[in-house]
Amino acid sequence: MANNPDIASPARTQAILNRFHLSAKKSLGQNFLTDLNVLSNIVEAAHLTKDDNVIEIGPGIGGLTEYLARSSKKVLAFEIDQNLLPVLDETLSPYDNVEVINQDILEANLPKIIDEKLNNERPIKVVANLPYYITTPIILDLLKGEVEFDNITVMMQKEVAERLAGKPGNREYGSLSIIIQYLNEVDIAFEVSKKSFIPAPKVDSAIVTLEKREKIEHPVFDKKIFAGFVRGCFAHRRKTLWNNLQGVFDKNPETKDKMQQVLDKLDIKSSTRPEKLSVDQYVDLTNEFHSIKML
Ligand code: SAM
Repeated sequence: MANNPDIASPARTQAILNRFHLSAKKSLGQNFLTDLNVLSNIVEAAHLTKDDNVIEIGPGIGGLTEYLARSSKKVLAFEIDQNLLPVLDETLSPYDNVEVINQDILEANLPKIIDEKLNNERPIKVVANLPYYITTPIILDLLKGEVEFDNITVMMQKEVAERLAGKPGNREYGSLSIIIQYLNEVDIAFEVSKKSFIPAPKVDSAIVTLEKREKIEHPVFDKKIFAGFVRGCFAHRRKTLWNNLQGVFDKNPETKDKMQQVLDKLDIKSSTRPEKLSVDQYVDLTNEFHSIKML
């Protein structure tokens, strides 16, 4: 076993799939990474050390898991596909610091599992090549705040990565960018070609790093209301901020007067497009509408 090539090497991956008569399940977003440089770069982007506990989502046949096991203290890997359990049992047998948990990550009670399995020992980092069909729900779930991760390093479709990391004025910048960047520093570490996977997905990918901001300089009065308000402002992307605000509130003349007062106070033109405003400007808008009891 010790002399085996890495699990993620193309030849070994193919041999494992053949021997277990597995074909990658499209419905579960199974695209196995077979580029060893990419794996090393992921480990580096996550700044892993031997003190770190790692949560992995979707170990697949264990290619990334092996790299995580070599560079961290302990890996808890959540895999939904029962058919992969015997494979992981074998491929990861040289690593006694990996525990595979056969659960849907969206159903898992992470605080409880982390308490039981890791004794809440920090640092706790998330590193994963995410199943692309549920990228956004997983990210939103991880960022809910039930567990505070020291950082999150995840591979996703390039388009989604660009939306998460988008800056004001970019085509990709939208409600998801704002809601996530309010609490987190978001960066695209590097891009990955579709050729780095077996089977190759239809789109290119990117590694995104998310790190919780240490201090929110400009806090919003309520995060949930902020998220709902921002989504409302982007309900019709091509329309002006004003038109979207009429959808968030109503079209009464009195409401319009109040809306105009808030925009004037914040020096925001009603003709502006929602994607032109910064995260801080959305915080200001939310807090101002709250102060006059509209939110
Ligand atoms: N980590 C492997 C790699 O990099 O080669 C496989 C990554 S593959 C893109 C995504 C993995 O997530 C698959 O193994 C799939 O079975 C698993 N998966 C899909 N949905 C899941 C869910 N809801 N919870 C946990 N794992 C899931």
